[in-house]
Amino acid sequence: MASLFVFNTPILNSPHGVMLMPLLPNALASVLPTAFDADQRYSVDLHMHSTASDGALSPTDLVTLCAGRGLTHMALTDHDTMEGVEEASRAAQQAGLCLVPGCELSTRWQGINIHVVALMPGGLQGPMIEGLEQQREARIKRAEVIAERLEKMGLPNALEKARAQAGSDRPLGRPDFARALVAEGVVADWAGAFKRYLGSGKKGDVKAHWPEISEAVGWVVASGGVAVLAHPLRYGLTRRKRGLLMDTFMEAGGQGVELVSGQQNPDATRDLARQLVERELYASLGSDFHFPGSHAAPGSMSPVPRTAAPPIWQHPRLAHLRDAPSGMLGAKPLNQLS
Ligand code: AMP
Ligand code: MN
Ligand code: MN
Ligand code: MN
Repeated sequence: MASLFVFNTPILNSPHGVMLMPLLPNALASVLPTAFDADQRYSVDLHMHSTASDGALSPTDLVTLCAGRGLTHMALTDHDTMEGVEEASRAAQQAGLCLVPGCELSTRWQGINIHVVALMPGGLQGPMIEGLEQQREARIKRAEVIAERLEKMGLPNALEKARAQAGSDRPLGRPDFARALVAEGVVADWAGAFKRYLGSGKKGDVKAHWPEISEAVGWVVASGGVAVLAHPLRYGLTRRKRGLLMDTFMEAGGQGVELVSGQQNPDATRDLARQLVERELYASLGSDFHFPGSHAAPGSMSPVPRTAAPPIWQHPRLAHLRDAPSGMLGAKPLNQLS
């Protein structure tokens, strides 16, 4: 059957985006390529969000969507939490796709809020347990500071309003404040909320509570994980400064960089690939999916160029990912996830 062989290699480009493929027997469906060939789409997405942070879909619904879109490998990478991983693992086992436990850590570097994707094949363990506890407290304190600032700028009871938008008791994020600003008519839309109040360099962009990037990378590496620098083209850095960020990240033990995150300019991607190759960094890819209807969909991202940077699943710590049968990556039963 031809489609089996198609699926053995990455999902092919189609004018309508990622081709929808039926789920195939796991042994065949889970094979990932050993190198990035030019302009192909992949059945793997290693950066996505659920309701455990600022995503719209529950972990189960996210996994179902991924399975429906023909993904074979996915990582759940909610902001500063792995609370959704257990539910996602159960759903992934049912759907027959391979789930990599993970999260996206908020960190600081030279006064900029930098994100680090932690791929945690063994689940939540080691220093990451305390690291995520620290992040949780940081996020709660940060929300109070953001609320104080927004109150001074015309949003009374900001904390309560953001909480109402969150619709659960998870620690608040800037998107909850963005929704509150829109709901109260302070700004016309979500983009305006970030542009005027919450985006990089604005009053509501409070970074002081986050750890230095090196500290956060240290947690990941010491906990059996693989640290991936998230969306390096989205920080507004010059090429030189981006290189310095990568150097700091590597010195701390960081192993990979998102070569493709969502939709990117192909020239910028090729240039980024050269920076990875120079440093012998692994290349990761992800949609950064948050909600249906946005420009990003699971497994939908710009093509990966041909590059000598090895795919992140070639990293020894993710070796299982290459031919994982199904369910959660790693040997631990779900109930031992701490
Ligand atoms: P937080 O983790 O609370 O700092 O919030 C960061 C999240 O806010 C990101 O992951 C995005 O989902 C969203 N976000 C950040 N900057 C922007 C922006 N300029 N426009 C729209 N959404 C943004
Ligand atoms: Mn987000
Ligand atoms: Mn991010
Ligand atoms: Mn993200």
